[in-house]
This record gives sequence, structure tokens and C-alpha cells, in this order.
Amino acid sequence: GTAQIGVTGLAVMGRNLARNFARNGFTVAVHNRSFARTQSLVAEHGEEGTFVPSESVEDFVASLARPRKIVVMVKAGPATDAVIDELVPLLDEGDIVIDAGNAHFPDTRRREAALREKGLHFVGSGVSGGEEGALLGPSIMPGGTRESYEVLGPILEAISAKVDGVPCCTYVGPDGAGHFVKMVHNGIEYADMQLIAEAYDLLKQGLGASAAQIGEIFAQWNTGDLESFLIEITADVLAHVDAATGAAFVDIVLDQAEQKGTGRWTVQNGLDLGVPITGIAEATFARALSGSVPQREAARAALPAATLPWDVSDRDAFIEDVRQALYASKVVAYSQGFDQIAAASAEFGWDIDRGAMARIWRGGCIIRARFLNRITEAYERDPQLPLLLADEYFTAAVGDGLAAWRRIVAGAAQHGVPVPAFSSSLSYYDGVRAVTLPANLIQAQRDFFGAHTYRRTDRDGSFHTQWSTDRTEHDA
Ligand code: NDP
Repeated sequence: GTAQIGVTGLAVMGRNLARNFARNGFTVAVHNRSFARTQSLVAEHGEEGTFVPSESVEDFVASLARPRKIVVMVKAGPATDAVIDELVPLLDEGDIVIDAGNAHFPDTRRREAALREKGLHFVGSGVSGGEEGALLGPSIMPGGTRESYEVLGPILEAISAKVDGVPCCTYVGPDGAGHFVKMVHNGIEYADMQLIAEAYDLLKQGLGASAAQIGEIFAQWNTGDLESFLIEITADVLAHVDAATGAAFVDIVLDQAEQKGTGRWTVQNGLDLGVPITGIAEATFARALSGSVPQREAARAALPAATLPWDVSDRDAFIEDVRQALYASKVVAYSQGFDQIAAASAEFGWDIDRGAMARIWRGGCIIRARFLNRITEAYERDPQLPLLLADEYFTAAVGDGLAAWRRIVAGAAQHGVPVPAFSSSLSYYDGVRAVTLPANLIQAQRDFFGAHTYRRTDRDGSFHTQWSTDRTEHDA
């Protein structure tokens, strides 16, 4: 065979990825379980490049040059396993199977181990940017062996988004690292969206501003430090008018958020690794709360508000406070996400370069933002930075907005505006910087009821106090 890359699974994502390869001059073998999709791709877009369509998996595999590089872009889960099982017997040593779907990273670890035993490379690759990204340049997060990246990397980099000429694709790390990083990307996306939603709610309730007015504020914010795809589309969405009613579009959208599950995976993993990713967790729970219809109805009828007056007479100052609180909370959410990457990297031996992750998120993906440059720079200053928040740039940036952040969280509490992500981010900030935390009391309680022992501030060792008898202390 002669095709340089193959794509199997030609629904929206696979179809657009295949076109992207073809448009970049690669000869692309294309295959789909039902041949009609393959035929329609070639019929509609055949002129964009060189496609080699096959109806059978055997022909598809045979149409590829060795080592074969096959992108699997099918429904995540059992469908991915089914396709891999079909491909594997037809492949030769050194061939590379790339799962570009949204796999959960433990599945990727399992698949990588199974294929490695057969002498094949398995690359679990995060791909972000949706349909449009797949066609015009996504952010690509490939995991697997370094050896496979040497062959595959240039092809993926060619079709990825570029920022200042730099590809939004780099080697992430072994086995599940790529899908892990994509998962955290999605978790951060949840946090970012929730923070923006809270800012919107504060402006709406604090100022009584209309959607269109708030849209203008977001458009203004998009010219500064907050510049990002999500802020930009927020401004766009808020300006949009519903054709049927003439009302602001957001005002006719039901306030019950849904989720496909990557946020939940991220939070579950945060719990597994013991990393406080409060921003992502609050964002995930906020979606769950919004969808808890019976609870909301019961609460609406029963729970008093007892709100206190909130002085927002200085409109511009209030808007600036919300902006600063949003930026500071966003820094916290990202800092937590990068902590999670560091923890998993240590746990699984992945050696992930966090600065490089921020770099490949600058374009193509949903969280693309100017701000990511600052993260890359922070990890360039110190690749082992223990806490992104403690980098000099972010310390200063958050410090400048700290008073505003406190005013907003306090004001929201007094006025009864729910700001779970803003407030938990501020609590995290105060917690992580605290000289002492009340965990001393927790340890004492644990020793009291469970003999779990404690350490002392004045000497080394573990101790237990005989609480139920004479309350003497013993070495544990
Ligand atoms: P879908 O997730 O809707 O999957 C449809 C494709 O899977 C079709 O090609 C279908 O073939 C194939 N398929 C399903 N079951 C099987 C099976 N048992 N054997 C062989 N093929 C099967 O497609 P999308 O393009 O939306 O997404 C593809 C992947 O990309 C998913 O993992 C998704 O999570 C991920 N992704 C999606 C993004 C998006 O914005 N949509 C963004 C980033 C990643 P057939 O035509 O024969 O039914």
C-alpha cells in the first residue's frame, strides 16, 4: 500500500480529520463500518486531496504504507475495542494504531499494554476542538511510545492548529498520558465555563444588566488578560436574539446543564490522586445541581433568602471587581488542573512537561486563550514549579485582584448569588497559603475515636494518646 495515514470511523470527527490530512497533502486511506459514509466522503470532498477508500478492513489495511498508521475515530468504549480487535490480526510489527476518540485513560493504558505485547504501537490521543477543529486544526495530545511519535508526530503536527507558527501538538507521555491530559483539559473547560457563568450571573443580579449589555462587557473583557475562545463565544451568545420570540437567546434557554462525563472522570481522578481540584469539582456539581429539578422545586418553595443589601452603585467598579475575581478564580482552576497532571505524571511515571501542555492548548481547543502563554512561561522559569499559583507572574496577577475577589465573594454571599467556583477558588487560595490549617484538630479527633495517631510540631515520630483511660501519650 501507499497511503501515508488511515482513518477508520468517518462520522463528523473522523471525516473532518481525514479531510484535514488530505488537505495537508497526505494520501489518506479511509474506511467506515458502513461503506456509505466512506463513499459520501469521497463523493463530496474527493477533490480536496488524495483519498484511498476501502469497503473492507482487509483492503483498508492493505492500502497503507508500512509502518501503518491508523487513526481510529469511532464511538468511545466497546466500539473502539471492536475496531481494534478487527485491525490487530491484520497488522505487522511496528504498525501504529491511534485512538483519537474520547477514551477514558485507564482504557487506553489497558489497550496500549495489550498491543505492546503484540509488537504494535498504540497511541491514545486526545483531540480537542470539535468538528471545526478536526477540519481546520485541532489541539492534539498524543500518548504512547516516543518511538511511535517520531514517525507519527510530524503528520499530526502538520494537521494541528498553529499559534505563532508553533504546532498545537506534542508528545505527551507514555500509554494513557495523552487521554489523561485531554481529560484534564475538559475538566478545566468545565471550570472555565462555570466561572464565566458565575460572572454572568453576578452582572445580571448585581447590575440588573440585560444579556446584550453583559455581552458587551464580555466583548470588552476579551480584549485583555481574559482573551479566550470561551469569553469570545460568551459575548457572541449573549448578543444573540431568539428568532421566534425576539427575546435574548440565553433568556429562553432552560437552566439545566447536561454533561457527557469527562468532567466527572476528572473529578473522580482528582479524588483518586488526592488532588484538590475544587474548581472542576464545583463546576461539575453546579451542573448536577442545575439539573436537580425536584430538589430545586422543593428548595424554592421552602428556603428563605434572608439576603443583605449589596451596594453596587458604582457600576464600573463592580464590573472591574467581577473581572478581577473571574481572572483570579481562573488562575486557581488552571493551577489545580496542572497539579492534577503533575500528580498523575508522578503516579504513572509519565514525565509530562506541563509547560508544553499549556503551549498545545493555545490553539485549536476549547480552552484556547492568551493566558496559556503565561503558564508556559511559568514552567519555563521552573519546570518543577510545585504550584502554578506561586509563580511570580500569577502571584502578582492574583494579588492585584485579591481585594476585588474578596469583595465579590462576600457580596455574593450577602446577596444570595450562588458562586460555588468563585468562592471555592478563594477558599483554596486562602487554604493553600495558610500558615496553619485546622487539620491539627482533625488529626486529634482521628486519634481520639480511631487511634489513627498524630505527629507533633515539636519532635519527630508518630504518637497516640490513650483517650479512654489515663490520656497518657505513647509512641505509635
Ligand atoms: P460518534 O461518536 O457518533 O461515532 C460514530 C462512528 O463510530 C461511526 O463512524 C460509526 O460507524 C462508528 N462505530 C460505532 N460503533 C462501531 C462499531 N461497533 N464498529 C465499528 N464502527 C463503529 O462519532 P463522532 O465523530 O462524533 O466522534 C468520534 C470520536 O471522537 C468519539 O470517541 C468522540 O467522543 C470523539 N470526539 C468527538 C468530538 C466531537 O466534538 N464530536 C470532539 C472530540 C472527540 P457507522 O457509520 O458504521 O455507524
